[in-house]
Formats: sequence, C-alpha cells, structure tokens
Amino acid sequence: MRVLLVEDDESLANGILTALRSESYTIDPVNDGRSALHAVSSEHFDLVILDLGLPKLDGLSVLRAMRDRSLRTPVLILTARDGIKDRIAGLDAGADDYLIKPFDTDELKARLRALLRRSAGRAAPIIEMRDVTLNPGNQQVTYQGQMISLSRNEYLLLHELLSQPDRVLTRDQLEQCLYGWADDVDSNTLEVHIHHLRKKLYPQLIRTLRGVGYMIESRP
Ligand code: CA
Repeated sequence: MRVLLVEDDESLANGILTALRSESYTIDPVNDGRSALHAVSSEHFDLVILDLGLPKLDGLSVLRAMRDRSLRTPVLILTARDGIKDRIAGLDAGADDYLIKPFDTDELKARLRALLRRSAGRAAPIIEMRDVTLNPGNQQVTYQGQMISLSRNEYLLLHELLSQPDRVLTRDQLEQCLYGWADDVDSNTLEVHIHHLRKKLYPQLIRTLRGVGYMIESRP
C-alpha cells in the first residue's frame, strides 16, 4: 500500500512516518500543497493523508484540484483548526474521512485500514489468473486453492504485476511500488523477491524481459 503524506509540521510528519512504516505501508512525505498535487497527478498512491493548512497551496485546493482531475484516491484530511467549517468544506470537496489534531496514531491506523477496506471493496475485486488468486481486501493469495504465505514485498510485487497483466513493468516501476522514493535501495533486492515469488508460486508465472523488467501474461 502506497501512501502520500502531505504535512508541513516536521515533527508530526516524522511521528506519522514512524508509526506507519511499522505497518505494511510504503509512505512518501511531501510538505507543501504544490508538491502534493504534482505527486498524485504523476504517480499512483492508494491513499493520501492531507493536512489542510499547507504552504504554497492549501489542502482544500489540493483536494478540489484532485477531484476536478478525476483523481479518486481516498483522502484523509488532517486539521488543527477549530470549528466544524473546515471539516465540512473538506468532506464536500471530496475527502473520505478526517482526523482532528492532535490524534492518536492508533486511531490514524484504524481510519486508514477502514478507508483501504472501503476502496478495496469498491475498486479492487479479487484477481484470478493462471491458478493464482489474490484478494486485495484481506491480502490473501492462493495457488490452485492452497493459501500461500507471502512477505509484504512479495505481496506488493505480485499485486502490481497481476493488476496489469500482459504489460511489462520496469524495474523502476516495481521498485517504486515497494520503496516509494527511497534511493538507498539495494539493487539486487527486486530479483530476490521475484525469485521467492517464483518458488512459492511457480517459475513460469513471472516472465523476465532482460534489461527491461517483468510481466505476468494473462494466458500461458
Ligand atoms: Ca500545517
């Protein structure tokens, strides 16, 4: 699950990063509205945590611009402001939920899980392909009806490949889905995860296109 965190308060942002990285989230932080809009317009995120009071472009404008461009990524707004006005404006502009600062990180995690469940139910049906099924709702994977236990990274890679069958995904695209924008990624880890996936499922499932990337074909 890839999350964009838009928060200009550094200590709050760091607190959220620490809390969410211990769960199965890949989380990328930005600290102003313009960068946030650029990020959601150019890359895929499963969820956005959006502060309302932001430099350059405020959170409400970011949200309105997203919805105007038909970007339907679930958005949880954060607000420190008193009064119900901002919350109503946010929900009217297309936010899916809100939290008032200060909040408990356990509550944040629970809200995110609920949002992801809702969007999974709405947008992501169970994928069935070549004897493999993947259920985004509970993150369960089976092969020929048998439950397969995958690590977080293996699951994310399989999900990315199965969601876009017959399409070659480059190393960069796949690494981004695992690590976000982190640039200290060991260059061999992707191969290692693919190797494990082939062992746990079956070797022919994932095709290597040398020098380009990987793909899953919808038919053998
Ligand atoms: Ca702020």
